[in-house]
Amino acid sequence: MYRRPLVMGNWKLNGSQQMVTKLITELRTTLSGIQNCSVAIAPPMVYLAQARDQLVGGSGNISLAAQNVDVNLKGAFTGEIAVSMLKEIGVEYVIIGHSERRTYHHENDEVIAEKFAVLKSVGLIPVLCIGESQAENEAGQTETVCKRQLDTVLETLGVKAFENAVIAYEPVWAIGTGQSATPQQAQKTHKFIRDYIAQQDAQVAEKIIIQYGGSVNANNSAELFKQPDIDGALVGGASLEADKFIDIVKAAENAQQYQ
Ligand code: PEP
Repeated sequence: MYRRPLVMGNWKLNGSQQMVTKLITELRTTLSGIQNCSVAIAPPMVYLAQARDQLVGGSGNISLAAQNVDVNLKGAFTGEIAVSMLKEIGVEYVIIGHSERRTYHHENDEVIAEKFAVLKSVGLIPVLCIGESQAENEAGQTETVCKRQLDTVLETLGVKAFENAVIAYEPVWAIGTGQSATPQQAQKTHKFIRDYIAQQDAQVAEKIIIQYGGSVNANNSAELFKQPDIDGALVGGASLEADKFIDIVKAAENAQQYQ
C-alpha cells in the first residue's frame, strides 16, 4: 500500500518574524521540486499569518500546521484559539496530544479526544501524538500506553475518525534528547499501532499516516524511512535549521518505499 509520507516541522516556542522569513524562504527555494513527500511547518500561532503569506502563491508545496487548538468554538476563553480561526488563516494540520502539552498543560486523553473531534468537525487534520515515557518503556508498557491513548478517540469518535487524520508515534524519552528510537524499535510500535486500528477497520489502518517523532535528524532519518510502517516524521529541534530539515525531507523524498 502506497502512503505519501509527511514530514512536519514543529517549531515549538521558537522563532521571530525575521526567522520565519529566512527559514521559509530557504525551504521554499530548496523544496520546490519535492514530489514524493508532503511537507508542513508548525510555527508559533502569532506567526501563522506571516507564514501563510509567505507560503501561498509560489513554488514549494509546504502546508501550514498549528501546534494547538482549544476545544471551545468561541466565547470567554482568554488566550485560546478556535478551530474556525485556524481554518480561516489557512492551517491544514493541527498537532494535538504532544507530550509537552500533556505534561506542562495537564492535557489528558479526554481533552485530546475533544480536540480531535472539533478539528474533524471543520475539516482540519489532527496530528495525534502518542507515546510512552522512559519509565513506561522500561516497564514494557509501550503498547499499553499507545493503546490507551488511541482508545479514547476510538471509543468516543469511532475508527472512521482516523480517516484523514495523522498519528505521530513519539516516545517521550526520545523527544529533544538526541536519543532516537532505533528504526527497529520504532517499526515494532508503528506496526502495533497499525494492527490495532486494523482490528476495527483494515482500510483505515492501511491508509493512515503514522509519523515517527523523537530526535529525528539528517543522520537517522533515512534508516527510519526504510521501515514499512513509518510514514515520515514529526521533527522538533532539527526543523529550526533549514539545512537539517531539508536533509530530512530529502531522505523521505528518496526513500525507496515511498516511490
Ligand atoms: C517533537 O517535539 O515533536 C520532537 C519530535 O522533537 P525533537 O525532534 O526535537 O526530538
